Amino acid sequence: MNYNNPNLIFNDIPSGKIGWSSPSNIALIKYWGKKDLQIPTNASLSFTLNNCQTETIIEFSPTYNDGCSIEFFLEGIPNKRFAEKTCLFFNRIASIFPFIKQLDFKIYSKNTFPHSAGIASSASGMSAIALILCDIENQYFNTFSNEEEFYKKASYIARLGSGSACRSIYGGLVSWGEINKGSNLYGSPVIDGVSDVFKNYHDSILIVDSEEKKVSSTVGHGLMNSNPFKNGRYNQASANISKLIDIIGKGDLNNFINIVESEALTLHAMMMTSLPYYLLMKPNTISIIERIWQFRNEKEIPVCFTLDAGPNIHLLYPHSYDDKVKIFIKNELLQFTSNNTVIHDRVGNGPQKLNL
Ligand code: ADP
Repeated sequence: MNYNNPNLIFNDIPSGKIGWSSPSNIALIKYWGKKDLQIPTNASLSFTLNNCQTETIIEFSPTYNDGCSIEFFLEGIPNKRFAEKTCLFFNRIASIFPFIKQLDFKIYSKNTFPHSAGIASSASGMSAIALILCDIENQYFNTFSNEEEFYKKASYIARLGSGSACRSIYGGLVSWGEINKGSNLYGSPVIDGVSDVFKNYHDSILIVDSEEKKVSSTVGHGLMNSNPFKNGRYNQASANISKLIDIIGKGDLNNFINIVESEALTLHAMMMTSLPYYLLMKPNTISIIERIWQFRNEKEIPVCFTLDAGPNIHLLYPHSYDDKVKIFIKNELLQFTSNNTVIHDRVGNGPQKLNL
């Protein structure tokens, strides 16, 4: 697959603005380790979230600059680091969207949740930008013959911004990688065979620490290349993803819990066994995990946790236990969070275009 297209060049360079909101996602089978350009070493699987969103508006106009011409405003404040990262992304996709070089960009973005803290702001942020660029192509070059083509390309582009962003392009359960006829190049929605219990699954995110993590995911992925356990991990992930898709089809909550918690702990085990080794979990992360296990054993309520590459706990549970779990969170878990912060989220329907 090659999206390079020298014809995507404006004759009359337009000015305009386009906005999209795009959600974060929580991986159940983790992507950790990459080869080549944003190609994963194993397939991954995630739930797209509903409330953890990035809202991005891009204003574009003709440029008089040769280089990358981006101003980035995060929550209204100029952010040079985000502008630089977006420039790297735009340079990477310049042969796919040659019109980028003809435009000045002002990017206004806000996240509904803390960024760079392991809640995948990179996924929501980069997927929103990818959708906007595809939308520029759609509006001015009219190249897509249907929605499926549009979203597939948006997912391909999002991956080049941040791997897991390719899964945020779709709602529900989404895979990325070579599983079920899927591809390493873009995400694919798992449309058939999701049991009802998982369609509106809850994810309450307990913010143990909202500080920027000390080791970025990019560095973490790189360290997998020399991790002595890497091959075992890649084989385990491949086996787990097939099993989990089957389990989600059957609505088998016990086995869901076993695989999802094992995946979370394995991800962090990879960090602990990298050289240099490091920890992203905090003491309060462990305290919450112990309380979850105790609560599950005593009350026989099927709650479980997963972790992204950060210290914050994603508490996963069926909608029917919502009231009981919220009481558990309030009485037992909030004490371990930073400023009593919890984001109640659930499986969502995917990105939306903003009416501007
Ligand atoms: P996280 O766990 O939040 O994904 P990372 O360190 O992996 O943490 O990614 C954070 C990076 O994601 C930021 O440095 C920035 O490049 C990008 N990012 C976060 N929010 C946005 C946004 N709203 N728009 C564009 N990029 C974003």
